[in-house]
Amino acid sequence: MTLNDAQIQVDEYVSQFKMGYWSPLSNLARLIEEVGELARELNHLFGDKPKKSSEKIANMKEEMGDILFTLICIANSQSVNLQECLDEVIAKYNHRDRNRWERKN
Ligand SMILES: [Mg+2]
Repeated sequence: MTLNDAQIQVDEYVSQFKMGYWSPLSNLARLIEEVGELARELNHLFGDKPKKSSEKIANMKEEMGDILFTLICIANSQSVNLQECLDEVIAKYNHRDRNRWERKN
């Protein structure tokens, strides 16, 4: 699935409902919540904060999916093409940071 396909699929899903896309600020809050959930998982796995026995078992994959879905919702509601965003950021790093990191052999 390409990013364009993903944007279409999310739009088809959201378009089923009268409410449609949430407002940009509500979606931003939701995105930050989901990023926090990923941070929590990473902290449980690699940080100093153990999971409580009462906490549900989640995983990074699920949280990354939530983040992607929410980001796609924001992009769709603002008519932003995420493939173009990704292409542009990769080009930026390939140019701006081309000599920044030591390369493998
Ligand atoms: Mg989540």
